[in-house]
Amino acid sequence: MLKLAQRMSRAKPSAIMVIAEKAKKLKAAGGDIISFSIGVPNFLPGEHVYAAAHEALKHDSGQYGSNRGSDALLDAFLKHLREGGFEGYERKHLASGVGAKQVLFNLMYALLDEGDEILIPTPYWTSYVDIAEILGAKITLLPCPPEQNYKLTPAQLEAAIKPTTKLLLFNNPSNPTGMVYTPDEIKAIADVLAKHPNLWVLSDDIYNRMIFDGLPYAHLVKARPELRDRVVIIDSISKTYGMPGWRVGLIAGPESVALAMVTLNSNHITNLPEVVTAAAVAALGGPQDVPKQKNADFAKRRDEVMAALNAIPGVRCPRPQGAFYAFPDISVAFGKKHGATPVNNDVDFCNALLEVKGVACVPGSAFGEPRAIRISYTCKPAELTDGLKRLQAFFSELK
Ligand code: PLP
Repeated sequence: MLKLAQRMSRAKPSAIMVIAEKAKKLKAAGGDIISFSIGVPNFLPGEHVYAAAHEALKHDSGQYGSNRGSDALLDAFLKHLREGGFEGYERKHLASGVGAKQVLFNLMYALLDEGDEILIPTPYWTSYVDIAEILGAKITLLPCPPEQNYKLTPAQLEAAIKPTTKLLLFNNPSNPTGMVYTPDEIKAIADVLAKHPNLWVLSDDIYNRMIFDGLPYAHLVKARPELRDRVVIIDSISKTYGMPGWRVGLIAGPESVALAMVTLNSNHITNLPEVVTAAAVAALGGPQDVPKQKNADFAKRRDEVMAALNAIPGVRCPRPQGAFYAFPDISVAFGKKHGATPVNNDVDFCNALLEVKGVACVPGSAFGEPRAIRISYTCKPAELTDGLKRLQAFFSELK
């Protein structure tokens, strides 16, 4: 019997996709299903993005392009970085890929040898662990429970870094929790990192334009510019511009890391297509009305979700300040029953909620926190209101 490579025994499908698929199937079969499961934006980019893509199609060369990304794409990203408060980057510090997920895969592939230790604050976005496992890295999870607002503390980070630790994965704003670090919190973490010059940092900032309550976009590199030599900024057009299917991810980091991305691209994707590139340039470089308006919209939805969750006795949810997720601790339900169905953990909870009320959420264990569930609040407004009512009803029926 022919065998797959060993590393495939460590690869598994995304847990988020599994529940999203289940909800989709139930809906297709006529079920009255509301999905809070998948983290897809509920909007499209402005007309200018489609106009740019049409124009590019008319003039498409049909040829291979740059392994790094076209100059126009790199320049649009440089502009985007400057608007975000990052100075001093040039094209040589940048690279692109097929979405932030592929970029993250490449970065970990380029920076981690088998057995290298990676620190992952928990709750984490599922793919960090999945990719690290495929690559055979040694994963150390740093638990950041709801009691500490799901945030990594400087003391915790300091205690976890060993001389052999290779990489920290840092995500702000966070998927799944929606937490956003304050400038003081970022500064304190940057101060710890500054003491450990042998540690790489992957800073997954793809929700950086989705921050509420007037909070500033604080960043490790802005707090401590010398960290630029080993902090890699990861960005994407997926969430900010409502373009997840276009698949454009970008990095800004040390020249050596950007070059490693270019080399890896030259051995698989080669380049992003011209039409996709033109759309990304228009999104990054064009008017920013859509993301601004959506941000205000998501802040209102966050308020609606929080009001509903706060009305459920025993449910605790640190208040999200960014992205479009809430991550309530629902462990008060454990040990109870809905009808004859026992709810002993987050998976039982999500299965029962889907079966009884037709609401799909992702179990927190997919993100390393089994006391919680993730609510993605990007569905239609009426569905959000209805789904939250169903969630409240489900809780009230637990015995
Ligand atoms: N990083 C985080 C934190 C995410 O939530 C996601 C998508 O859900 C990604 C990366 C991947 O984004 P992309 O669509 O650019 O691959």
